[in-house]
Amino acid sequence: MSNVKAAIVTIGDELLIGQTIDTNSAWIAQELNKLGIDVIRRVAVGDTKEAIVSALDEELQHVSLLLLTGGLGPTSDDITKPLLCEYFGGKLVVNQDVLGHLMEIFERRKRMILERNLKQAEVPDNCTVLFNKMGTAPGMWFEKEGKIIISLPGVPFEMKHIMEVEALPRIKELFKGDHIIHRNVFTAGEGESVIAEKLAEIEEKLPPYIKLAFLPDGGFVKLRLTGKGSDEQKLVTELEKFQAEIAEILSNIVVALVDEPIEKILGDTIKNLGKTVGLAESCTGGYIGHYFTQVPGASAYFMGSIVSYHNNVKEHVLGVKHETLETFGAVSEQTVAEMAQGAIKVLDVDYSLAVSGVLGPDGGTDRVKVGTVWMAVASRETVVTKEFHFYYDRDRNKEMAAKNAMLFLWKFVTGRL
Ligand code: AMP
Ligand code: MG
Repeated sequence: MSNVKAAIVTIGDELLIGQTIDTNSAWIAQELNKLGIDVIRRVAVGDTKEAIVSALDEELQHVSLLLLTGGLGPTSDDITKPLLCEYFGGKLVVNQDVLGHLMEIFERRKRMILERNLKQAEVPDNCTVLFNKMGTAPGMWFEKEGKIIISLPGVPFEMKHIMEVEALPRIKELFKGDHIIHRNVFTAGEGESVIAEKLAEIEEKLPPYIKLAFLPDGGFVKLRLTGKGSDEQKLVTELEKFQAEIAEILSNIVVALVDEPIEKILGDTIKNLGKTVGLAESCTGGYIGHYFTQVPGASAYFMGSIVSYHNNVKEHVLGVKHETLETFGAVSEQTVAEMAQGAIKVLDVDYSLAVSGVLGPDGGTDRVKVGTVWMAVASRETVVTKEFHFYYDRDRNKEMAAKNAMLFLWKFVTGRL
């Protein structure tokens, strides 16, 4: 079957007031997308019978696959299970497997099992139980008039577990959709409008089943080609042809042809060279180090970050000269250059990156305006500096500084500076 349409309904008052961010539907949408299933609607509703029933009525008019998350807990605000049972005309019965699993969990935790917990072993007799090894609330699979309705717990790791082990394999078997394949071009250095101008011609040439998306993010623009069709190999060949054409047109700003974050691209580059790296961070306070350590296996090349926020640390740990700090200030070309050289020595690394700036909202002077960030990259032989200006609030300035710093180092390491 191709062109299967799906909808996702997330249930919970906490989603409506913005207390919990709905990550479940984004994850589910990505997983369904991989199977070639189109998610055409995503809705969040509160924990009320009226809201859930009207969402069911509405969504089932549009799709043949409906996923629900939330409302399966043991407390009175969780009403999804009895409601679905009634909606599909069944009755609640104790499931021995689920009961056994619940008893085991409570025994292991040495906690008394309460009546309300035992209720979690009750499931509608008109559904297939999707066993939940990670928690107490099982998932449920209903079928009605050729449509599939799947109810999952709201807790993200339980939801993912049931999806991966129980639901997705069945969905895959039932709905063999078109292939949806992505290819990416990761660029840095030009805005999306300029890129769009350059790609206008190629965009014209794209067949209707291949779409090009521009995804700007903090100085980077990710270009994503999405192709949809039944012949996987043909699609891959075509996508890669357009990907190569785009990369050719944008050759001076292409960073990579993968959908990976800059910390991973940078980390892989350093690892593949068999080199090591260390940081001297002032205004980013260790945030770049956080990015480096987000990549599994970073210990192979990332030695550490010296968070040299105070001038004393710049001077006494990194060896920045007292006169440099006195004469030029902490946010200066001279200071970051000495910070980077200091990091090379202190951390005994092949490459270093140093950052010092004023992220705001206060702290600017006539000489150094808010948003000014000086950066230096160094090897054991040379050091290169650059001044950046960011114009946002403190959080965003920090984010931009960290990402641009990693890009700056990547350019240095790959000989693009
Ligand atoms: P529930 O199954 O409704 O008892 O949900 C349990 C918990 O899972 C909630 O308190 C939330 O913290 C979390 N949760 C529920 N729905 C979502 C969602 N759509 N995305 C992320 N977390 C969620
Ligand atoms: Mg809830």
